[in-house]
Amino acid sequence: MKDCIFCKIASGEVPGDMVYRDERVIAINDIDPKAPVHILIMPKDHIPSLNDIDQEKSDLVGHIFMVAAKLASQKGIAKKGYRVVNNCGVEGGQSVEHIHFHLLGGRNMAWPPG
Ligand code: AMP
Ligand code: ZN
Repeated sequence: MKDCIFCKIASGEVPGDMVYRDERVIAINDIDPKAPVHILIMPKDHIPSLNDIDQEKSDLVGHIFMVAAKLASQKGIAKKGYRVVNNCGVEGGQSVEHIHFHLLGGRNMAWPPG
């Protein structure tokens, strides 16, 4: 999508701090990290939000969680624990309308989130 920052990073038009890439997804370090490990995992294709995940696209979400577990292991936080978050829509706190999952770790996480 033309004006989407994450599409631009995925295509290489805008530089991103890329930590992982495969044929379906990319992962980048968050530009404004909220934890020692804060990585965003997202599809290369433009999908606005979790509301757009249908049966056909549902395996993508499983793939993203598999990548999250792999990156958590690589970052050395798998055993201690970590959090994977998707913010959906205005009340969910979504600020970029290209679906992405936050991998957060390296500190204790509070519950419930704010
Ligand atoms: P959300 O609020 O769930 O939509 O998350 C959007 C996240 O994208 C925020 O944590 C931002 O810090 C992050 N972000 C925005 N622009 C960039 C960028 N160019 N590179 C990396 N992270 C970004
Ligand atoms: Zn996009």
